[in-house]
Amino acid sequence: LLGDTIGGNFDRTVAAHPDREALVDRASNRRWTYRELAEEVDAVAKGLVAMGVGKGDRVGIWAPNCAEWVFIQYATAKIGAILVNINPAYRVHELKYVLNQAGIRTLVAAPEFKTSDYAAMIEEVRPECAALTDVVLIGRESWDALVSHDGELPEIALSADDPINIQYTSGTTGFPKGATLSHHNILNNGYFVGELCGYTEQDRICIPVPFYHCFGMVMGNLAATSHGACMVIPAPAFDPKATLAAVAEEKCTSLYGVPTMFIAVLAEPGVDEADLGALRTGIMAGSPCPVEVMKQVVERLGMAEVTICYGMTETSPVSTQTRADDSVDRRVSTVGRVHPHLEVKIVDPETGLTVPRGEPGEFCTRGYSVMLGYWEQPEKTAESIDSARWMHTGDLAVMDDEGYLNITGRIKDMVIRGGENIYPREIEEFLYTHPDVLDAQVIGVPDERYGEELMAWIRMRAGAEPLTAESVREFCAGKLAHYKIPRYVHVVEEFPMTVTGKIRKVEMRQAAVELLG
Ligand code: ATP
Ligand code: MG
Repeated sequence: LLGDTIGGNFDRTVAAHPDREALVDRASNRRWTYRELAEEVDAVAKGLVAMGVGKGDRVGIWAPNCAEWVFIQYATAKIGAILVNINPAYRVHELKYVLNQAGIRTLVAAPEFKTSDYAAMIEEVRPECAALTDVVLIGRESWDALVSHDGELPEIALSADDPINIQYTSGTTGFPKGATLSHHNILNNGYFVGELCGYTEQDRICIPVPFYHCFGMVMGNLAATSHGACMVIPAPAFDPKATLAAVAEEKCTSLYGVPTMFIAVLAEPGVDEADLGALRTGIMAGSPCPVEVMKQVVERLGMAEVTICYGMTETSPVSTQTRADDSVDRRVSTVGRVHPHLEVKIVDPETGLTVPRGEPGEFCTRGYSVMLGYWEQPEKTAESIDSARWMHTGDLAVMDDEGYLNITGRIKDMVIRGGENIYPREIEEFLYTHPDVLDAQVIGVPDERYGEELMAWIRMRAGAEPLTAESVREFCAGKLAHYKIPRYVHVVEEFPMTVTGKIRKVEMRQAAVELLG
């Protein structure tokens, strides 16, 4: 394990690779070497200190992906301020909640994004946020003032175990919770993700996933800077065309995405003609990764060493990952093995006892990656982390004899139909094999007779005839056990999603109840 702070580790990379490219922001066509990036980071750090930001103070960042996000990430780490990532999709109600819940003192924000006027929203909530002292708007005068300070950065005594980051969970299952993470937590996780991807200073990582989420800022930025690799920002928010162009033109060696993003990239016109010759690896993670999509990523995008990661914000985030030397079959069909230095056990959620190999149970993990706790929510922390420091994830997993894991779903998503436990994941995987299906999600809906019945939500490929309950039944007949065949089929254009690209099954279930009225 690395013992340094994030700032210490960053300085070592800058000293080792000063002239290598560190960061490319394609939207504004700007690029920095490690030496130049270090200058930007230092300027921001000095500005924050001059503003009165001290160790342990909370600094919020509310912006889509851009270079300034990265400057703030490393500047706050250097001075020991706690960075609070704010979801770019938030509106006044949620913004006010985070500003107050985390007690944010300084807020750095993009003035606007898409149709949202961030500056106006901040002014609206400001009178009700007692801790908020300063607001800095990227690209405006307040930003110029922030980076205008000369002189030396004062010595600040930091420990790797200090809290350095509050990351809110995606809010897939309910209201987001603020996971409090230390340098040690996230620096090491980023480092080991990079190790398992085989990163060196030669790598160029295309990061279309949001920085506000651990996928972007830890598995992306920290994996890159701890290995001297380059971070490529294709666009402020995910855009399949910009992503493809960035990979081709910047000769990226690695590409990230949640499954829905890869599905969009694979459906982009010209994808098979694009020059993706440099691309060798990447990460798919965040939600169940369909085998069919993984196969296409290997075959059509040429990502022969692609890996799947499984994890959660509360565990910095990654707990398991496939390795480049795993067989293609393993790489497309499992979430790999346990990450270095971590313990894992699979338990019966009712009894807490470890289940036999091959049987599903709740995934629990212990080690350096487990968060310090939920910010100012000790009761919630105690519900997830037990007295022996095991993190109970709420995810169902199966481990095979050789230690490879599969995530079968979330405990909350498991469907119980007439006493049978059904894992929607298994049916989704099967529906993906239908040639006309672009994407499929399966949920349980209340049923008087069986307790729950299955409903499949399906997105069709362009030009395909919409599937019906009848045609789905025919497709599944003889291949899936009768009780796993969805009773209802609902064809849609889009699924309800979080900004991180996760499907909100909670919302789907609510909509389904109304549909079935
Ligand atoms: P919330 O906790 O607010 O409901 P969330 O759990 O989606 O939201 P994150 O911390 O961003 O917030 O996501 C972690 C979850 O994502 C995991 O608990 C798991 O359910 C799911 N997940 C992550 N990676 C994978 C994967 N490779 N396969 C299946 N599921 C995954
Ligand atoms: Mg969660």
